[in-house]
Amino acid sequence: MFAIVSCPGCSKERVVDLSSSTSVCPYCGRKADNALLAVRFSHQDQGIVRDVLQGREDVPLVKDGVPPDPMEALRYAVSHISDPEQKMSATAEGLDRIKGEFTLDDIEHIIPGQGRRFAEAMLESCLIHEVSYGRYRI
Ligand SMILES: [Zn+2]
Repeated sequence: MFAIVSCPGCSKERVVDLSSSTSVCPYCGRKADNALLAVRFSHQDQGIVRDVLQGREDVPLVKDGVPPDPMEALRYAVSHISDPEQKMSATAEGLDRIKGEFTLDDIEHIIPGQGRRFAEAMLESCLIHEVSYGRYRI
């Protein structure tokens, strides 16, 4: 489990791995006992903890026991993929799993500003096909 804590020495927020017993602040060098630090946020995914620390607002989290919207979770996951081919297959597989048939608008929602370009590339590489006008599947 990873957590956002505030350093008892300099008060700056940082990420610690709670499976370690101690941590050292990268800003002031103060060593701290992790069990004694006040945790503001924790999650098993270090990437999510870093994004929350950096103030990213679209991090999909369980809120009041309600799981995150699958489309928002997919958009977030895809936004971390830099390789275009992996981005295409994650988008196609995710949309197929969530929606069955999906549209250009759905692809645009997952890859904002690049939906059309990615849809064309997905069609060209036979990753998806048009099942009826404007509707796609893997
Ligand atoms: Zn510090």
